[in-house]
Amino acid sequence: MAYQTIYPYTGELLQKYDDATEADLEAALSTANHLYQTRRKQPVSERAQILHQIAKALTNHEDELAKAMTYDMGKLLTESKGEVELCASIVEYYAQHGEEFMQPVPLDSQSGKAYYLKQATGVIVAVEPWNFPLYQVIRVFAPNFIVGNPIILKHASICPTSAQKLADVVLEAGAPKGALTNLFINYDLVAKAIHDPRVTGVCLTGSERGGASVAKEAGDALKKSTLELGGNDAFIVLSDADDAQLKKIAPNARLYNAGQVCTSSKRFIVMADKYDNFVAMLKEAFAKAKIGDPMDPETVIAPLSSQSAQEKLQKQVDTAIEHGAKLVYGNESINSTGFFFQPTILTDINKDNPIYNQEMFGPVATVYKVNSEQEAIDLANDSSYGLGNTIFSSNVEHAKAVAAKIETGMSFINSGWASLPELPFGGVKNSGYGRELSSLGLNAFVNEHLVFEP
Ligand code: NDP
Repeated sequence: MAYQTIYPYTGELLQKYDDATEADLEAALSTANHLYQTRRKQPVSERAQILHQIAKALTNHEDELAKAMTYDMGKLLTESKGEVELCASIVEYYAQHGEEFMQPVPLDSQSGKAYYLKQATGVIVAVEPWNFPLYQVIRVFAPNFIVGNPIILKHASICPTSAQKLADVVLEAGAPKGALTNLFINYDLVAKAIHDPRVTGVCLTGSERGGASVAKEAGDALKKSTLELGGNDAFIVLSDADDAQLKKIAPNARLYNAGQVCTSSKRFIVMADKYDNFVAMLKEAFAKAKIGDPMDPETVIAPLSSQSAQEKLQKQVDTAIEHGAKLVYGNESINSTGFFFQPTILTDINKDNPIYNQEMFGPVATVYKVNSEQEAIDLANDSSYGLGNTIFSSNVEHAKAVAAKIETGMSFINSGWASLPELPFGGVKNSGYGRELSSLGLNAFVNEHLVFEP
């Protein structure tokens, strides 16, 4: 496995890193475990103080971190900068709320006095993907830092530079050695780490394939795991949805990060009376989206993260069309270096089309026409995924009632998908299990230690 930075805009190999060895893993585990043992009783306020410093350091290093992400996986520099800012806000959120979240929780019991403590459990392995190289790590690191669980990071092999820079910034800002250790390890060493007695849990964000194999190792080793996997999120447009709002939000809900977001709106499910106008609006917006240099602030569509991502998406679109999907816009090759994919709109996807239940990780929108609200709900639920969804209606209470009928971990009303420090993030079905961010994310790897006095 090669950890290397290949700039997706030029295809140029910018940097290559040596794989970590078994001895590197052992040293990292030993340092992390020593930190856990010596600091687990440290007052939370001291850890919170360090998080304040890390939040500031992220902001101070915004340019450098943002550029590293853009070179690693090609995203727009403006989006990379936004990601650094989001990360700083997540770190600050746990700095401010950590003490409150770690308080003992009283329990009602008729038989005595009871409460539970929240305690650290040990070293956590974090396996993270390339689509948000910093954010995916921070949303695990910040809550676990408050808890006192050190993190061993195995980042995606295509974003090693951002992984290392983040670990360096965290360390320089005052985190003790071992709190966040980035290791360029292969899958075998990830498995070895999961089985190590000093490791007490593993979290993964990524594909179902990666999630299944990491969760299998965790199961074999009797360790807790959390998984945040793909999605095929529905964007439901009811008859009373506001057209101006749709125009503002729908295109970006698909195109942000070149469509490489687990919670991107991938299936637009539109009531028949809105359908023609909606498709025309989406087509106009997709045609206007400027494709090009990710460093240019005018660019809207950056290249995909890698050549293999581009090839996989092309194969999916070709398959969809071979099986009867109608190409409304896009799917033309881009006359430029880089792993670009033109924003594309597909309609008329039948249930027997192989793409019907596949996630497309790029700027490809599928649009479905429905004749009733129940049909919209049934279609939204007819998916092996269950991450998020979006519902547009002028009647907010009604939209909330529709949201409650959809089998996902998150619903957004009259807005695009969002991730904020205080909102729990995660899904059901093949989108995984467990939650990140908010107080729920902090609880992922704590020992809820009961104390009972009859
Ligand atoms: P992967 O699941 O392959 O990669 C995610 C992370 O898991 C990477 O760090 C990867 O390492 C690691 N990984 C994968 N398999 C194993 C294993 N057996 N043991 C240890 N670590 C492992 O996803 P891809 O990057 O290949 O993306 C494929 C698809 O996954 C996308 O098309 C999309 O559907 C989904 N995805 C979802 C994301 C989300 O936010 N939910 C994010 C990214 C992808 P390495 O890079 O070295 O292979």
